[in-house]
Amino acid sequence: MNRIQMKTPLVEMDGDEMTRVLWAWIKEMLIEPFVDLKTEYYDLGLKKRDETNDQITVDSANAAKKYGVAVKCATITPNAQRVEEYNLKEMWKSPNGTIRAILDGTVFRTPILVDGVRPTVRTWKKPITIARHAYGDVYKNTETKIPGAGKAELIFTGEDGSEIRKTVFDFKGPGVLQGMYNLDGSITSFAHSCFRYALSTRQDLWFSTKDTISKVYDHRFKDIFAELYEKEYREAFEKAGITYFYTLIDDAVARVVRSEGGFIWACKNYDRDVMSDMIATAFGSLAMMTSVLVSPSGQFEYEAAHGTVTRHYYRYLKGEETSTNPVATIFAWSGALRKRGELDGLTDLQDFAGKLEEATLETINSGVMTKDLALLYDGEARAVTSREFLSEIQKRIQMKA
Ligand code: NAP
Ligand code: MG
Repeated sequence: MNRIQMKTPLVEMDGDEMTRVLWAWIKEMLIEPFVDLKTEYYDLGLKKRDETNDQITVDSANAAKKYGVAVKCATITPNAQRVEEYNLKEMWKSPNGTIRAILDGTVFRTPILVDGVRPTVRTWKKPITIARHAYGDVYKNTETKIPGAGKAELIFTGEDGSEIRKTVFDFKGPGVLQGMYNLDGSITSFAHSCFRYALSTRQDLWFSTKDTISKVYDHRFKDIFAELYEKEYREAFEKAGITYFYTLIDDAVARVVRSEGGFIWACKNYDRDVMSDMIATAFGSLAMMTSVLVSPSGQFEYEAAHGTVTRHYYRYLKGEETSTNPVATIFAWSGALRKRGELDGLTDLQDFAGKLEEATLETINSGVMTKDLALLYDGEARAVTSREFLSEIQKRIQMKA
C-alpha cells in the first residue's frame, strides 16, 4: 500500500510514563502503516530534560515556532517526590508552562463525544471548547491581612515620577486586602489566539467577563477584544459564517447550559479554572479531553488534556496489561496531522486524520473501549486492553483505506 507523503515535519514532543508507551504504540499501529511520517523528534521525557538542563523543552518550543505544528505527549511536572525518583539535578519547570511562555499561546480544551457517553447536560450535542487566559489576575496577586483600622490605597508610580493614587477602603477594623494586574499585551495575545482558533475550527467565539462590576479592569478585556475584532477579524469571521459574541459571565453560564454546544468560550483566568472542571465533568471524562495551544501568530501544539497516568504505568512496569485510554492522544495526532495537511495543502493527509478519528469513534460506538469508558458507557460495552483497542482501530482504518 502507498503511504501518504508529508512535506513539512511535525514537531514531535515525546513524554513520560504510560502516555509515552501509548505514544509509541499509536505511531507504530495507527500512523506509520498509513503515513510516511516526517517528524522532528524532541524527547521531553524527564530523563532527557534533566540531562539537557531542560534545554530540550526550549528547543522543542522554538521548533514549534519555526514549523507551526507540534504534537505533544503528556509529561511529568516534577515535584519533590519526582526529584528523588529520577534523581534530578533540579525541580524543572512544567514543560507546558515553558512551551506556553515561548509561544505566548492560549490553551483550548475540547471534549471528544461518543454516542454511548451522554453529557450530563441534555441539550449538549456538540463539544464546548474552553479557552483560558493563563496570565495574571488572581494567580499573580499580592494579598495581605489587615490587622486593624487604617486606610488601604492603590498607588502606581510612573517611571517619570507621576502618580496614580486611589483609596481602596477605609478600614475600621481587621480584614483582608488584595491587588492584582494584567497587561494589554497579554490580553491582546489571548484575543488573537482566540480569533485565530475560531477561524481555524470554524466555530463561533464567545467571550465573557464581569465588566458591569469591574468597570475598568474587566472592561479593558472587553475593549481589547472588540477593537481587535473590528480591526482584524470581522471580515474573516463573516466570510467563514461565524460570529464573535460578548456577554457577561453570569449570562454566559446560563446560555452555555441551554446551548447545543459547538462553540469556543473564552474565559478570564479564574473563570476558566472553575468552568473547565464543570464542563469536563459534565461531558464525561478527562481521558476524552483534547487540548491545543495556539499562539497569537497561529502556531498550534496538540496534546491530550490528561497527565502521564502514573498508576497505570507502575502496573505496566510490573508486566500487567493495562486498559489506559489512548483516545485523547490519538486525537492530538489527528489534530496535528490535519493542521499540517491544511497548511501544506495535502488533502490526503487531512482525509487520513478524519479516518483516524472516525475509526476511533466507530470502535467505541461498536462497544469496544478501554475500562474507564466502559464504566461510563450507556449500553453493551467490552472493556479491552490498550493494545487490543488500538488494533481494533487499526482494522477499521484499513477498511477505509
Ligand atoms: P493523570 O495522569 O491525568 O491521571 C489521573 C487519573 O485519572 C489516573 O490515575 C486514571 O485513574 C485517570 N486517567 C487519566 N487519564 C487516563 C487515561 N488516558 N486512561 C485511563 N485513565 C486515565 O493525572 P495525575 O496522576 O495527577 O498526574 C500524573 C503525572 O502527569 C504527574 O507527574 C503530572 O505532573 C503529569 N501531568 C501532565 C500533564 C501534561 O503533560 N499535560 C497534565 C496533567 C498532569 P485511575 O488510576 O483511577 O484509573
Ligand atoms: Mg481547576
